[in-house]
Amino acid sequence: NRTPLIAGNWKLNLDHLQSIAFLQKLHWSLKDASHDFDAVEVAVFPPFTDLRSLQTLVTADKYEIAYGAQDLSQHDSGAYTGEISGAFIAKLDASYVLIGHSERRTLHAETDEVVAGKVAAALRHGLVPVLCVGETAADLEEHGPSAVPVAQLRAALEGVAEGAEIVVAYEPVWAIGSGQAATPEQAQQVAAALRAELAQLLGEDAAASTRVLYGGSVKSGNIAGFMREPDVDGALVGGASLDLDEFASIVRYQK
Ligand code: 13P
Repeated sequence: NRTPLIAGNWKLNLDHLQSIAFLQKLHWSLKDASHDFDAVEVAVFPPFTDLRSLQTLVTADKYEIAYGAQDLSQHDSGAYTGEISGAFIAKLDASYVLIGHSERRTLHAETDEVVAGKVAAALRHGLVPVLCVGETAADLEEHGPSAVPVAQLRAALEGVAEGAEIVVAYEPVWAIGSGQAATPEQAQQVAAALRAELAQLLGEDAAASTRVLYGGSVKSGNIAGFMREPDVDGALVGGASLDLDEFASIVRYQK
């Protein structure tokens, strides 16, 4: 009952014109390959400035590709220069919003408290949070594989109502952009621990229907191994999501 989700996090790449061209090509590439969008959902996370253009394209041409923002403010409005509210993102018909990506946590000093505020803001505006959690190499050595991601999950979902719809992305920091992906067994172990924690936090039903993605050096050559694991329901793809053929192959991992 968990539809696999393959999502591309474009990070700070592709301006609005480039993103239109990319999405058109991706749509036609997947259409030509008779991709079943109901069987494997596809989503992209472009920079904020691309969202309006992608909304126009996706709506006009009835693309079955979802999109979301890479971040949002925990505030809805006010004196917060440079921030973007969940209301603005929702108004662009975005489905999702990434929250707590390790690059936000590290480079923008986002604490667990800020991340929790952003999860609440997303849910308040009808956006599905794609909550990113993951341990550093030092965390892994010190605390083992699941402790830090599970603690991040618990902190981020503080105060979230039972049954809320979220997506969790397990992204070990040491695997991001390193070419050194986790093994499918490692991803499965942490995904299962996260799902067990979700059962405590959101209830059994929500835990059973929440998609847990793996992210970190996912490529066309390793995606199938992750997707065979029972608790891994998709992937959050960085670098490889910027290469059309590579990303389309990841989406079509069953073929
Ligand atoms: P890479 O796929 O480039 O390792 O990035 C993963 C990531 O951070 C996705 O959010």
